[in-house]
Amino acid sequence: MTIKYRKTIFVLLLLSMLVALVYLIPANMVIPVQNASVHDWNRDTFWYQPWGKSGVHKGIDIFATMNTPVLSASEGLVVYTGRLGIGGNVVAILGGRWRLHYYAHLQSVDVRAGQWLRAAEIIGRVGNSGNAKGKPPHLHYSLLSLLPRPWRFDGSVSQGWKKMFFLDPGHELTIQQGSTRIPLAIDKTE
Ligand SMILES: [Zn+2]
Repeated sequence: MTIKYRKTIFVLLLLSMLVALVYLIPANMVIPVQNASVHDWNRDTFWYQPWGKSGVHKGIDIFATMNTPVLSASEGLVVYTGRLGIGGNVVAILGGRWRLHYYAHLQSVDVRAGQWLRAAEIIGRVGNSGNAKGKPPHLHYSLLSLLPRPWRFDGSVSQGWKKMFFLDPGHELTIQQGSTRIPLAIDKTE
C-alpha cells in the first residue's frame, strides 16, 4: 500500500466518523419558543406561496409576545449568529442527523458560534427584526436536512426540489410533541 493511498483511506475514515458522529447527536425536539404550543403557528404556511422575496415559505412562524425566550429546538452546535437583511438577527444550529436549525427575526441573540447547546436552552428573544419589521413578533423557524432526501422531491409545487432539504418543522415538532407545552427553559445567561 502506498503512503498516498493510506492517507486517502485515513481521511475517508475520519470523514465518515464525523458524519456518523453528527448523525448520532440526539435529535429530540422541543417547540423553540418558551410556553408555545402547536396552536401558536399556522401549519399551512409551510411552503405557502407567494411569500415575499424567497417565493415560498420554507419554515413556520411561531407567534409570541416580544422578548419571549427562544429555545434551541434540539441539542447541537451553534454554527452561525449574525444580522441578515431578510432574517434580521439569526442563529443557525447544527443538530443531530445533520439537520440545520435556523432561527430568524430575533430581538436579541444570547449565544455565540461554537457554543454547544442542549435542547431547550435559551438562544435569544422573540422579535421582529429583518423583514418582519412592523409585523407582530414571531420566530421564523426552518429545519434543513444537509443530507438530501431525494424521495421528497415534489414536482407539483414551486421550488419543489428544495423539499429534498427543507423539512416541515411543524410536522417534526408535532410528531414528537403532540400538543404538550414546554414547562421550563434552561437559561445559561441567568
Ligand atoms: Zn417565516
